[in-house]
Amino acid sequence: MARYTGPLCRLCRAEQKKLFLKGDRCKSDKCPINRKRPMPGKDPKARTGKRSDYGVQLREKQRLKRMYGMLEKQFRLFFDRALRMSGVTGENLIALLERRLDNVVYRMHFAVNRNQARQLVQHGHILVNDKHVNIPSYLVKAGDVIEVKENSKKINIIKDAMKELSKSGTYPWISVDADALKGTFTSIPERADVTDVADIKEQLVVELYSK
Ligand code: SF4
Repeated sequence: MARYTGPLCRLCRAEQKKLFLKGDRCKSDKCPINRKRPMPGKDPKARTGKRSDYGVQLREKQRLKRMYGMLEKQFRLFFDRALRMSGVTGENLIALLERRLDNVVYRMHFAVNRNQARQLVQHGHILVNDKHVNIPSYLVKAGDVIEVKENSKKINIIKDAMKELSKSGTYPWISVDADALKGTFTSIPERADVTDVADIKEQLVVELYSK
């Protein structure tokens, strides 16, 4: 699957907001956003003026898409699926993004960021309900059990990532057994529960794609 391979911090600098695309660095003083590094490009000031409605909607979409590490084509497919579901489209979209296997692996702290989680999935280190799944966009269902494959449990990046579990705990819709490197996606999260995208206005994404 195609993915963005350029510098991750540059994406945050372009939005002038933290997208939390790395691990500990995002919470440290080394984060370029904490250091107030300017937008990338030759003339960043030219892009800091008042934005049109379209510009605001576009930036919100880019921010959400990049947080979940997706490219346009697949993000649009997720939106189209959210549109076909009953309920509020923007909330459906967030719920679908949260159900992606790479995201769930990240939420369970088997990886320090979604990028690393995607690689773990693609390289066959993850089981869903005892079966290998190597598709990062696989949609996890409530009650599914996600586990690191037995032979992969000694991988250092997974052990290091798990240290975050004791620091920041787990999420209300996820339970994790740290010793077994196994977790359950207990329920599909409500919009209000997904606090790290709390400032995203998903309705702007809906408006953008509805033009
Ligand atoms: Fe880089 Fe993380 Fe800071 Fe974004 S939040 S600029 S990815 S360190």
